Amino acid sequence: MSRTEESGLEARASSPPPPQHKRLKKPPRGDPQFPEQTFRGIAVSAGIAIGAVFGAREPAAEITRHSIEFGEIANEEARLAEAVARSRKQIAKLRSRLGVLPEDSQAEIAPLLDAYAQMLGQSRLVRGASRRIAEQLRSAESAITAEAEEIAAVILAAPDGINDDERVSLKRRADEVHEIARRVVRNLTRQPFRSLAGLPEGAILVAENLRPADAALLDPARLAGVAIEEGGADGHTAVMLRALGIPAVLGAAGIADAAEPGTTAVVDGTGGSVILHPSAASLASARRAVAAFARARQKLARMRHLPAVTTDGHPIELQANLELPIELPLIAQAGAHGIGLLRTEFLFMNRENVPDEDTQAETYRLVIEAMNGDPVSVRVLDWGGEKDIEALTGAGLVSESTETNPALGMRGIRLLLSKPELLETQFAAILRASVAGPTRVMLPMITNVEEVREARTIYASVANRLRRRGDRVADPLPPLGIMIETPGAALSADALALESDFFAIGTNDLTMYTVAVDRGGTEVAHLYDPLHPAVLRLVQFATEAALRLRMPVSVCGEMAANPKYTPLLLGLGIRSFSMNASAVPRVKQAVRGLSIDSCVRLARRVMDQSDGAQIRTIVDQFGRAGPSAA
Ligand code: PEP
Ligand code: MG
Repeated sequence: MSRTEESGLEARASSPPPPQHKRLKKPPRGDPQFPEQTFRGIAVSAGIAIGAVFGAREPAAEITRHSIEFGEIANEEARLAEAVARSRKQIAKLRSRLGVLPEDSQAEIAPLLDAYAQMLGQSRLVRGASRRIAEQLRSAESAITAEAEEIAAVILAAPDGINDDERVSLKRRADEVHEIARRVVRNLTRQPFRSLAGLPEGAILVAENLRPADAALLDPARLAGVAIEEGGADGHTAVMLRALGIPAVLGAAGIADAAEPGTTAVVDGTGGSVILHPSAASLASARRAVAAFARARQKLARMRHLPAVTTDGHPIELQANLELPIELPLIAQAGAHGIGLLRTEFLFMNRENVPDEDTQAETYRLVIEAMNGDPVSVRVLDWGGEKDIEALTGAGLVSESTETNPALGMRGIRLLLSKPELLETQFAAILRASVAGPTRVMLPMITNVEEVREARTIYASVANRLRRRGDRVADPLPPLGIMIETPGAALSADALALESDFFAIGTNDLTMYTVAVDRGGTEVAHLYDPLHPAVLRLVQFATEAALRLRMPVSVCGEMAANPKYTPLLLGLGIRSFSMNASAVPRVKQAVRGLSIDSCVRLARRVMDQSDGAQIRTIVDQFGRAGPSAA
């Protein structure tokens, strides 16, 4: 929870935001001439925040290499071409989303994006950069920066006698050239966004894009809220923001261009809107909402010591997902019993090399000990897809992905089995830490039984090696289970159940792969629906396969965190849920008001439907009317 929510106080930037590059003429802060503007987006992390915009246009990426050898010219030209193409794609994507903006904003932003697109075509900028690579043996980054500087200098060397308006307009054009060159350099270097760590206190972060690795660096005690142009409801950035408890809206098209640094903004992470220049009435209502949210949280906190038991006496396991160590204290506060999904990716983020066995073992041990005897399910590295892989590329373990569809490529268990040394190190570290408390080990992105068999062979041989070396490992070995997060795994659940010790159903990826919608994407986000009958059938099939063998099965995707879905999942046979810690009290409240009988009736009704919209209506009705609606 952010400090804003806790205290019910308005968040304010305590120091002025740093000067930033401006692309558009923007209303000065607080100018009554400029009415409030509302942007709609996807509500990804609950809470209301009021604060001053910190417009995080990316700072100039650091160029570490300026010159190249003669033999590298072709490669450098190819790098430039690739980065230019990637930049063009990004601009086209922004352009395609303009339709959702009010007309006057469209009229302002469209010409700017067109100018950017032109500069990324057969322009002087791109041709000049390419020439500098070949003739001056400059790196692509250095070449495009130098060319942009020269073009900007020519633009600014305006004749005397032009008026102020003309001078401002020339300055803007020069800024645009720099801006587009910076974008290309960012695409060339792919440098992480480390400047976010120093955000002014109480700020609202506004940006075009926020990578999961960047979100991991945010300090929830300093940052009031987040509003981002890109991103979807269950992408990893959204997962991180929820974990950090920062009120956030993603997919808010147009916000990055409209939000001037220092402008007052209201982020409604519950309703999914962002207001710039809020009127006095909107501000007053936002302040009331902040206070109401804090009161509701306090009320839910009382759930902490109550058992998670249905009205007909069935105990339900509620655990927490952990993505960052910063969340550890929240787990006990929320009343969760253990960790149902420890995403170990955080250990590999924002660093150049892979953490060694000792470092990993120490981290896992600290987490396991902190749970005081409650179980911890450690998932081995699920890297790839939308997550970046600096540590792995830095260590030379993988080359940068050039796949058209990274989510369908080298991800999760596939990467680990192709680099067994990674998996061996992680297994060894977890096994050593497992003596500190009950532990389970989980494999991500499984699609077939071979992957489980191969991983199990490695698991056993690592355990033997540790024993031979004199290390203590838990005896018997911690259960080795799998994530069910691909349709392939769900539909092979009966075979996979014979190879696994438990299932954890990851509804985020399962939904994405089933309905073919990027979980972190914006454009078709409305089609991403965990209540799609196909997703529910897969959940049902996998759950029943596990229950037939009396094998533990849980849900640890974001679906588990939504109390609206709790009755349906209970009705399908799920008795163990893992979610971001802050959701535990709400789900517990739901559990304590439900009987398994009514949930089973609800699930039967739902599973008879073939239409997602109808399912949503039934689930909503049940939520409003309670068990009588079943
Ligand atoms: C999931 O896919 O539902 C899941 C829990 O894993 P992640 O969100 O880390 O991909
Ligand atoms: Mg997943």
